[in-house]
Amino acid sequence: MASLTVDQMYELDNGLIADAVKLRFFPLSIARGEGCRVYDVEDRAYLDFTAGWALANTGYSNERVKQAVIEQLNRTTFAGLISSMHEPALKLADKLTQLVPGEFHKKVWFGLSGSDASETVGRLLPLATGKRRLVSFIGGYHGATSASMAMSAHIAMTQFIGGGHVVKVPYPHPYRCPFGDEVSDCAEKAIRFLEDYIFKTICPPDDVAGIIVEAIQSDGGDIVPPANFLPLLEELCRRHKIHLVVDEVKVGMGRTGQMFAFQHAGITPDVVILGKSLGGGLPLSAVIARQEILDVGFALFTTTGNALSCTAGLATVEAIEQDGLVAQAGRVGAYLHQKLRQLQDRHALIGDVRGLGMIQGVELVRDRTTKEPAAVETAKVAYRAFELGLLVFYVGMFSNILEITPPLIMTEAEVDEGVAILDQALADVAAGRVGDEHIARFAGW
Ligand code: PMP
Repeated sequence: MASLTVDQMYELDNGLIADAVKLRFFPLSIARGEGCRVYDVEDRAYLDFTAGWALANTGYSNERVKQAVIEQLNRTTFAGLISSMHEPALKLADKLTQLVPGEFHKKVWFGLSGSDASETVGRLLPLATGKRRLVSFIGGYHGATSASMAMSAHIAMTQFIGGGHVVKVPYPHPYRCPFGDEVSDCAEKAIRFLEDYIFKTICPPDDVAGIIVEAIQSDGGDIVPPANFLPLLEELCRRHKIHLVVDEVKVGMGRTGQMFAFQHAGITPDVVILGKSLGGGLPLSAVIARQEILDVGFALFTTTGNALSCTAGLATVEAIEQDGLVAQAGRVGAYLHQKLRQLQDRHALIGDVRGLGMIQGVELVRDRTTKEPAAVETAKVAYRAFELGLLVFYVGMFSNILEITPPLIMTEAEVDEGVAILDQALADVAAGRVGDEHIARFAGW
């Protein structure tokens, strides 16, 4: 199958690869990647504002990660954790327990995806506590295995069966507060609703093993909750002796300008879930939690904590630390935010720009007063940006938020380049220059 064109590849993909695995926005094929750019099979270059769904925090083909993986591959292609021990797992576990805050005995569970990690937490917490229920937030995305889907409450997941023991409650969304137009106390209202209504009706708190939350709800729409939300949630958990689980799969590992997004709120979770960027491109997830939560039950796969993935993970953490990527994400992210705000001044389609560091959401609406979601326009902007050489995906319960999660190594100059393309794409869509036929082939969410 050498030297296929992109069109030929998509034709073959159509006949060979399951649609269930696809979330496509434009005809991208990746032949190679370098820094913040990927190149397709016809050698077209794309600046990447997605980092492959917030995965390539250290960029594509990061030298440290690449070298570490090559050296480990030369030692052995496989070393497992479930029935043997190896150094990369120990070193990475030691590192992660130091990075995650909390003055208590922590342990690390390793998996391969954010989904298996969430599912494991959902299974072990009830075993460890003897309590049966979990609470999660509407709009949350915790995975695509049956159990992690059942913990999620993104509209893409709630169509599937399961999850009767997981109670879903509103997430405080400053732009679309579920409790009405007054947004200044949106977080207080969300906490009060959970404590005064949910806990007193369908979900007795003494039967709740844990509350799982994203510090920034990303697939739900890049929603940055009010600053007091996580501290209030932590207090509520402590009052009722409920474990606080923070899913940092997408926003952790430096993306927001702190190693973990929850650190902006100064809270100490009992459980932290990592994935995506942790493996630097290789499949790797981790749960860092109080020891008593992880020493129960059965949650292992043959390739769990394999030496190659752990080596990549360790090199990724070292690259983030030694190359100063957390600070860079904070600095360049603030610059990116300001540039996107300037776009909002010029484009009526942009209703809101929000984010923290290198995760920014640009919400498109048909009318800034009614906030009617502009889903078709959003799909067209993503498509047009692709034609112009920029990768950007969209998220949200109404599929109308352009999500910008670049590699943390991105520079201000690259931000300028990407924002200029977005500017052009927005203008082209507003002027009706992008036809419906372009997006008809791509279902998106
Ligand atoms: N948690 C969060 C917050 C996520 O964004 C995702 C993926 N979008 C997951 C968990 C699941 O990760 P994966 O797709 O690697 O299984």
